[in-house]
Amino acid sequence: MSIAFISDIHLSAQRPATTQLFEEFLAENERLLERLYILGDLFDYWVGDDSVGLLGHDAVEAALRNTVTAGTQVFFMHGNRDFLVGEEFARRTGCQLLSDPAVVSYEHRNLLLTHGDALCTDDIEHQNSRRQMLSAKWKTAFLQQPLAERIHTAAAMRAQSKAAKRTKSRSVMDVNPHAVENLMRQHGVDTMIHGHTHQPAVHAFEIAQKPAWRYVLGDWPKRRNALYLQQGELVLKNLAGAGD
Ligand code: MN
Repeated sequence: MSIAFISDIHLSAQRPATTQLFEEFLAENERLLERLYILGDLFDYWVGDDSVGLLGHDAVEAALRNTVTAGTQVFFMHGNRDFLVGEEFARRTGCQLLSDPAVVSYEHRNLLLTHGDALCTDDIEHQNSRRQMLSAKWKTAFLQQPLAERIHTAAAMRAQSKAAKRTKSRSVMDVNPHAVENLMRQHGVDTMIHGHTHQPAVHAFEIAQKPAWRYVLGDWPKRRNALYLQQGELVLKNLAGAGD
């Protein structure tokens, strides 16, 4: 048995090929995986658990439910796109919500999991909006709006973030090495796994003269991969198939 980590699937009704690849991935892996960790941005956007039908994700929820029923524990960590996924989604799919960051243990290894955007400390604008949107006050006010209004607001926010990205350098939007090291030291781990940056890689470095590793998961529309932990070894595998 093994466990796997994926991130940034960015599912939306506008990406049928990626949705199909994700459903195939679940079907192929459900009997092989003891646990599957989804580290955020499974959905390109999510405006409340009551939006699933309107956003066209009923089949995805059913596929997740099948995977859980087949015996794979599925853990869901929020990303900055789907931070409004809630308890109703968890109840319907059987996924277990995981806080960010989280440390998980498997085969004597402790792994620090995070979506990754909290580590992008050089992107002040993102950190400010993140702080605002993760507040209970903002979430409650947003979820009280009618569904159509929420979808409209989310579209405006995505357009705004896309425009802002064009003015930001790649390094500003990447994780800050000090933030990475601080979080790893705080949790006493030598291995971190995250997504968000869409820059898949394995980074080997040192913390207090000891080897440390940071595994970055890719985004599914463009650079699909999955990280497997099997017999104590972490292996980052590129996945076949073209997304959209
Ligand atoms: Mn993200």
